[in-house]
This record gives sequence, C-alpha cells and structure tokens, in this order.
Amino acid sequence: MPAPTDAARIEELRTLLHRANRAYYVESAPFMADSEFDALLAELAALEARHPELSDPNSPTQRVGGEPVDGFVQVAHRVPMMSVDNTYSIEDLRAWWERCERALGRPFQAVTDPKVDGVAISLRYEAGRLVQAATRGDGTSGDDVTHNVRAIHAVPLVLSGEHAEVPAVLEVRGEIYMPSASFERINAERRAAGEPEFMNARNSTAGTLKSLDPAVVRARGLSFVAHGAGESSGTTAAGRPVERYSQFLAVLRALGVPTSPRSRTCRSADECVAEIESFAAARAELDFAVDGMVVKVDSFADQRELGVTAKSPRWAVAFKYPAERRPTVLERIDWEVGKGGTLTPRAIMAPVVIAGTKVQHASLHNIDEIHRKDIRVGDTVVVEKAGEIIPQVVEVAAAARPAGAVPVEPPSACPSCGEPVTKEGPKLFCTNGACPAQFRERLKWFVGRDQMDIDGLGEKIVDALVDAGLVRGFADVFTLDPAKVAALASETETKAGTRVRRKIGDKVAASIAAGADAARGRGLARVLAALGIRHLGAATAKSLARAYPDLDALLAASVEALQEIRDIGEVTAPSIHADLHSHAMQSAFRALRGAGVSLASTTFVAASVAPAADSPFAGKTVVLTGELETMDRRAATERLESLGAKVSGSVSKKTDLVIAGPGAGSKLAKARELGIEVWDEAALAAALSRA
Ligand SMILES: [Zn+2]
Repeated sequence: MPAPTDAARIEELRTLLHRANRAYYVESAPFMADSEFDALLAELAALEARHPELSDPNSPTQRVGGEPVDGFVQVAHRVPMMSVDNTYSIEDLRAWWERCERALGRPFQAVTDPKVDGVAISLRYEAGRLVQAATRGDGTSGDDVTHNVRAIHAVPLVLSGEHAEVPAVLEVRGEIYMPSASFERINAERRAAGEPEFMNARNSTAGTLKSLDPAVVRARGLSFVAHGAGESSGTTAAGRPVERYSQFLAVLRALGVPTSPRSRTCRSADECVAEIESFAAARAELDFAVDGMVVKVDSFADQRELGVTAKSPRWAVAFKYPAERRPTVLERIDWEVGKGGTLTPRAIMAPVVIAGTKVQHASLHNIDEIHRKDIRVGDTVVVEKAGEIIPQVVEVAAAARPAGAVPVEPPSACPSCGEPVTKEGPKLFCTNGACPAQFRERLKWFVGRDQMDIDGLGEKIVDALVDAGLVRGFADVFTLDPAKVAALASETETKAGTRVRRKIGDKVAASIAAGADAARGRGLARVLAALGIRHLGAATAKSLARAYPDLDALLAASVEALQEIRDIGEVTAPSIHADLHSHAMQSAFRALRGAGVSLASTTFVAASVAPAADSPFAGKTVVLTGELETMDRRAATERLESLGAKVSGSVSKKTDLVIAGPGAGSKLAKARELGIEVWDEAALAAALSRA
C-alpha cells in the first residue's frame, strides 16, 4: 500500500479521535489510551498546521472534551471550561516552567494539585446558593446535571459565610469522582446480588451523573473536589481581593467547598518535581484514583499575562504518572474482523484490577507483534494501564512460563466466514467481500454520526439487526419494519452503568425509523464517505460532491477526470474508480436509490460558474464559533464552502469574518482583538439567503 497522503491521514485521525472521544465521554466505554489519544491529537494538530486549507471547525483539535448526551438541558458556560495540556515527562515540565519564566520575565510561584480522575463539573452559586451544576461538555456548553449534583454530599448547597465573605456570583470548577471505597462497596453488593460488576470508577461516575434519578446518585457515594474558578463577582480574603490561586483555594475552603488537602506551593521547577516525586508513592494510599499532578501559576495577574491557546491555558500543565503494571494469565486469543477485513488478535486474560479498573482484554495488534514478544497462550503476561488508558500487554514473564504454553499460530481461515486469510506484511485480512463480520463493522461505520448519522442506531442495535437478518445491505436500514425492530432483544446499558439484554421496544424502533428518514437527504458526499471505500474518506467525498452534481455524473467520469480532483492522485484515482464500479457498489447504489436515499450532491459547484465573484464569501476565510441556533453547523460550513469561502477552525490575521453564536469564547475575543468583522447568526442567515 502507498504511504497515505497527508489529507487522508488527517481524515483518518479525525475519524478515529472523534470515535475515541465519543467512546470516552458519551458512551463511557474508552478504547484508547490517554497517551495514545494525546499522541494522535498532536500528530493531527501538526498536520493541520501544515495544511491550513484542510482546517475544519469540527476537528477534534478544535474542541476540549466530549459531546453532551441526549436527555439533558444544555447550559452555555459563561467562561469556557478549558482542559489542561498533559505531559508525561519531567523534562517537558521543566521546559514549561522555563517558558513561563521567560514570558513573564521574572521568577514566579506555582501550585501543585493532585489530578483526580473524575468528571469535570462547573458549580454556579448565586448569593451563596447552588443554582446550577453543568458538565464540561464541549467546553463551551455542557449538560445541566444540577438535580444529580445536589445529591452529592461533598457539594455544598449553600456556601458558608462564617469565615469568608460570600460573593454575589461564584462558579466553582472541580471534579466529581467515585472514592475507591464506594466503588468497591457497590461492586461487592452487585456480586452478592448476582449483578455484573462495574469495570471502572471514572466511567461509573460519568454514568451515575447521567442518571435521571438522583436517588441512584445518592446511593453511589460520589465525592467532589474543587480546582478552579469560572465566572465570579470577585472573592475576597480579609476584605481584600484575592490575587492568587492558593488564596482562592483557601477562600473556597472557608466557604465550605472541598479542595485538595495536598495542594502545595512551589517556588521553582525543582520544588515542583520534588513534590511530584514524593506524591508518586503517596497516591497509592489515597481513597480515590489520581493519575497525575496539575501545576498552575499561582498569581492571577501572571495567569492573565501568560494567556490561553485555543484549547488550554498556558499557565497550567498536567504531569501524568506512568502506567501501573500487573501480571495475569493469558487464557486465549480471539481474532476480531474489522470493517476492512483486518483480523486483529485480542488477548483474553484472567481478570486483574489495574489502576482501579478490572482488566481482562487487550489488543495484541498483529501476529508479528505476538511473535516479537513471544506471547504464548497460558503465559503469565505483564499488563499495563493508567487511568483511562487502554490496557496493553507489555511483556511475558518468561520465568513463569508453564510447560504447556502454546505458541500462537495465525488463523488460516476467517473466524466469521471461514474463507482463507491473506497476509500483507504483519496484517492478516479476510478478503471475502461478503464476510458477515466485515459487513457488520462497515454497517456500524455507515450509520455512524460522522457518516449517515442515523439516530438511534447504536452498535449493539446494529449487532441485533444483523444477527436477526433484518439488515443484509446498507439500504436495508432505510426500509426496516418498526414492529420487527421493536420485538428484537439488544444489549443495552442501564442507567446504573451495567449491561443487560432488553427488547428494543416501540419507542427506540420509532426513533430509528425517524432517524433513517432524516438521513435519506444527507446527499452524495455523506453517502460516499459512509460506504467505506478505500481512499475515499470524508474530505475526498466532499471534493467529489463539489465536482459532480450526482452519482450518475460521478460514475460517468474517467479515471483521468477523477485524478484532477483535489485529494485524489495517480494512485488513488484508479482504486476509487474501480471500487465505485465494482459489482458490490453498483448493487449498493441501486438498493440505496430504491430505498429513497438521495444520491445528488448538495454542494455541487459547476466549474464554469465557479464561486461567483459577487458572492460575499468568495475567497474569504470564515470562522464559526459558539452555538448556531437555527442552522446545522455542518450544513452552514458546506454552504459557505459552496459559495467559495474557506471555513477555518481558528482565528488569525488571515481571518476575514467570524460568525459568533451564544457561548463564543476565546475565538470571539481574539477576533475583536484583531479587529476582524464579527457577525451573528441572523446576519449570516440573511447573507446566505441573498447569496
Ligand atoms: Zn471473513
């Protein structure tokens, strides 16, 4: 296979990181290590910096946390909830310290705070009373979880005015977490009741906060610790305004808000490193999971001077401790079939608790990796995990190898369809185009949020539909009989965070039907990207849909014509052309058309009338920030692009226009600072209707 182009790699990384983000924040089922996520995000940011023309306001680099889930009211954060940059090395931490010192031009003092592994929350107090609790969400708005947070004893409902003056408005930022004792007690109760155990304290915290029933929250024994401020009318100590984070923490404690008893003030990088090292040993004794240490510049004036980037404050950094390791026994290896036919080995191990999580599965990547590490079934393997990290098999405890340990042979047949397996480098493939396991994974991709975005069709429901034979091709999801869907059983997560099998039911079946109806009109670009054609990701699909008015026109195009399109080269054009004309795709297209799915482009730009020069957006660089209330952000982006605008994710001197909705934060501030024209959504809507 050729080296992927930068554009394809950007596409691949965005998709992967969006998925990882959703798995982590929305589904509470992470599949990627923090360190791996951070590394991929850094790679993406570097590629995007090199290719500003490929910027996208929906790129994972453009946001801070997760997307809120349905069922809760959205709350805009008056001050954005930023995330702190992570580092895994002491040298990076020292480099950060030096950068701050250089920028400030003087020595400074910092505060170290243990990084509690929980769910970030913003608590708003007005006249000393808790009026709102909101999750971080995407950093500009989150879910209103006030009803649940009130059930957490550690969160004061009324601030104490006994030892400090209560500010008119105070937003406390902090972390909701599940103490290890609560986690273990709940699991012991569940074991006794014959119910499945929770895997992880952080995920059960997130799941608990999403519960609609505060009684569940109360029973879970969640806790809270504060670590920052949002909007505030000003806190005072002894009648004088608070000027330092360390003072602010003292005021919070005086007001009855829990803060970390382990906060320390450091005057140098050396002091800071010493604190991190001494805490490394102490943290294992704590009653809750701590995965690192946050270091913040103490003086608020210094913080303002250092400022923020689009994503995180320059005045703070989080040092993360290395992963925890434990031995366990490798019981067997399963080979899982992916959407492209790749067979990935998965280790099934005796359960072991690492970093507060029960671990029994780990990806072994590929057969060469298994042989390189000489992993055999029956071996004692060393597994690594830290916080939300995905477990990894680091090495084999060779001395503990039993006589009967079995070397791993690659399978010669696909475990799903039984067809022969081919090997390309270290990778094994099932090349059977009709392989049921591959279709299942491709279908999950097809209905996914960034592709056809069919509401209600989660992975478990897709499994149930395929198992029952109700869906045999992509188009079948558009013609499902709701009564048959409702009667199926599917695995689902209860509000308590455990998995059970339940009937899908009329309500979900109806929402799937409505979701499919809504998805029919997504247009050619989305359909092409959803089909999982090699070398045809979302960016390429968009380019094709700009060049051709509909599928028929695209199918009539020659390989040479395709080669002229942005993102498509000499190598990919023949491959895309061949796949579009393959028997499988031809029948998929026919079936989709038959199911009423639009194969017309919504963004076609005829070359002869290329973005009209009189379009107010031709050649302009536009940034969308904050929330759009009447328009879909993706639709607005596509419309602007079709009018010749370049839609960018970040504000710079090259930006011509910023569209700011409610909740717009640092980008709007920067636009004002640079004197860039700013419109609201109504002005954009008016201009689009004229264009
Ligand atoms: Zn197969």
